Amino acid sequence: MPSEFDIIRRHFARPARRALLGVGDDCALIAAERGMALAVSTDMLVEGRHFLAGTDAAKLGHKALAVNLSDLAAMGAAPRYATLALALPDADEGWLAQFARGFFALADAFGVELIGGDTTRGPRNLSITVMGAVPPKLALRRDAAQAGDDVWLSGCTGDAALALAHLGGRTRLAEAALAHCLARLDQPSPRVALGQALRGLARGCIDVSDGLAADLAHIGERSGVAVELRYADLPRSFAMQACAEEQLAQDCLLAGGDDYELAFTAAPKARAKIEALARKAGVMLTRIGTIAAGKPGLVSVLDATGSSLPLARMGFDHFGG
Ligand code: ADP
Ligand code: MG
Repeated sequence: MPSEFDIIRRHFARPARRALLGVGDDCALIAAERGMALAVSTDMLVEGRHFLAGTDAAKLGHKALAVNLSDLAAMGAAPRYATLALALPDADEGWLAQFARGFFALADAFGVELIGGDTTRGPRNLSITVMGAVPPKLALRRDAAQAGDDVWLSGCTGDAALALAHLGGRTRLAEAALAHCLARLDQPSPRVALGQALRGLARGCIDVSDGLAADLAHIGERSGVAVELRYADLPRSFAMQACAEEQLAQDCLLAGGDDYELAFTAAPKARAKIEALARKAGVMLTRIGTIAAGKPGLVSVLDATGSSLPLARMGFDHFGG
């Protein structure tokens, strides 16, 4: 049985590059960057809660880091460092090697350096803290939306939730649609480049992890404004377009979660620049609504005639209803 230190040495200790001191001491040391704020965020994946026992370890390594990088993207920050706190029921070398493979493939793709962490026995739990650099005045915050702003969305929402609906027997997806939705569920691509390109263009910004409506409500609350979404303008992937159950599609699009897209607001005068950015970056950006001077945090979903659609739920809350 490998010791805790064997595990760290074999799977997670890599020589420091950007950091002044990486894995191996009581703390890592990182140099402050001139003119930059350090954006810091933690996200945890818990077995039985965020993923099922037996989930492919490489995919977990990818996803645990991806959901964190998505938070950096939503601030407009450039990824720099990560720490990794692991609770594991056993020291399964095969599992660890696969987990590390998935983790480092994504870390290398985004230039993220693993500089520390903690390793302990316990129910499987993966907690990552990421750090990124952003000029403080250009950070994309949730509290910066203004009445009259357009609401924009990158990519499409709902596909990860559609995969879960298929796995739970609530719908049946055709082969290509299922492959697409499973990839969106297991291997999300954080919108890191887009986040940085939106510096100075977007006002309020959030990454969509808990459901589009719930996450836009966070922008609304923090900014003291209401959000009006135009349901017919929500983009749908080919898999969602093939979904014949409209109630399920609506729930996935608005409240599904696990999307890791960016939802942001911007002044109408920024439209041309944002459209140019979408073309240049090869990312679909869609205008899906408007910010209004209404009850802070209220999200209304309007149908084609302008009346409000009743929502069964807004999104995911671990302790709420
Ligand atoms: P301490 O007892 O000082 O907390 P540890 O023995 O827990 O130190 O960890 C030893 C070193 O290995 C530290 O630099 C720590 O940051 C690093 N480390 C521990 N677990 C991990 C991990 N899962 N991934 C990366 N680094 C880790
Ligand atoms: Mg420790």
